[in-house]
Amino acid sequence: MSADIAIIGGGPVGLFCAFQAGMLGMRSIIIDAMPNIGGQCSALYPEKPIYDIPAYPKILAGQLIENLRAQCEPFNPQYLLNQQVKELQSNRDGVILHTSTGAIIRAGCAIIAAGGGAIRPKRPPLDGIEELEGNDVFYAIHKAEQFKKRKVVIAGGGDSAIDWALLLADIADHVYIVHRRDKFRAMDASLAKLRAIANVTNARVQIITPYQLSSLSVANSRLTGVEIVDLDGNSRMLDADALIPCFGLENDLGPIENWGLELDDGKIIVAASSLETNKERIYAIGDTASYPGKLKLILTGFAEAALACHHARQQMYPNQVWHFEYSTTKGLPRMEETENL
Ligand SMILES: Cc1cc2nc3c(=O)[nH]c(=O)nc-3n(C[C@H](O)[C@H](O)[C@H](O)COP(=O)(O)OP(=O)(O)OC[C@H]3O[C@@H](n4cnc5c(N)ncnc54)[C@H](O)[C@@H]3O)c2cc1C
Repeated sequence: MSADIAIIGGGPVGLFCAFQAGMLGMRSIIIDAMPNIGGQCSALYPEKPIYDIPAYPKILAGQLIENLRAQCEPFNPQYLLNQQVKELQSNRDGVILHTSTGAIIRAGCAIIAAGGGAIRPKRPPLDGIEELEGNDVFYAIHKAEQFKKRKVVIAGGGDSAIDWALLLADIADHVYIVHRRDKFRAMDASLAKLRAIANVTNARVQIITPYQLSSLSVANSRLTGVEIVDLDGNSRMLDADALIPCFGLENDLGPIENWGLELDDGKIIVAASSLETNKERIYAIGDTASYPGKLKLILTGFAEAALACHHARQQMYPNQVWHFEYSTTKGLPRMEETENL
């Protein structure tokens, strides 16, 4: 797999970077550990209005991402989602990336737009849980039908836990909602609906509090039960063949720390004028980039994307003479016109 620019992170800044790369005639690949693009905007606050995006008095974070996706669509960036970039090597001719799913990407430059690191669901500390992920342990529901006739434990006390429970109430054979407190953090209306479903005789939905996950029972590599324990240490084994932990998200800077980049408190040190890191052909932009006076805002990241792309093009095509052009002057370049840069 190859591109001019490999963009690590498909948050707002990575997406705008793909647009900027396209405006300069460069093809890009965006890699993100999340199943969806949008970074923090999609994962943490899609329904919240943002007020400091230029020319938008108010825009929902989710809508901003949709607009950014549409803006870079003419340049057809390739998206590699659900995979973390594990390795990044560079030399004077380009970069090579390895992802967690085994993809190998060669590019002229890498632009790291990794925010605080890969965003991923919090995994409860239960022995053997990793081996069950994908078959019996899930962190989100993509196809509700997958849970038909299954006995599902949903752990957590927030909106996701309650929403998933409501979704599965009519599909699964049994749904247990396990939370370590009696009080939930979910929306009152959803909670009331769930309690009403759980309160009928022989309900297929059971709310169990205050309990937390304790261990997994596994036979032939499949989940056969979930042990839970209350605050006094009393345990119960729930007859279950699926588990959905809903404990929120966490950032994992993870492999970035091993790429030989100069870091300051977990952020990548760059030159403010070019966004270059200490490694050739590697740039960092957005929340992950650090320089004196850095403002961690989306609009700052947008400007950094433009600076990094201009600099990267100069690095990759040093013998070409580039004239600065406004978008109003040149319009949207068609990718096929720029193939022989
Ligand atoms: C509740 C909340 C409200 C906010 N409100 C505002 C606001 O009003 N205005 C504003 O300007 N900013 C706001 N922010 C901050 C804003 O969301 C961030 O500045 C912005 O998301 C940074 O964008 P980014 O693209 O640099 O990184 P992110 O949005 O963090 O995206 C980084 C992406 O990189 C991926 N990634 C990381 N490492 C890897 C890897 N190794 N391999 C593959 N993928 C990787 C991650 O999975 C993630 O999707 C807010 C933040 C929060 C949490």
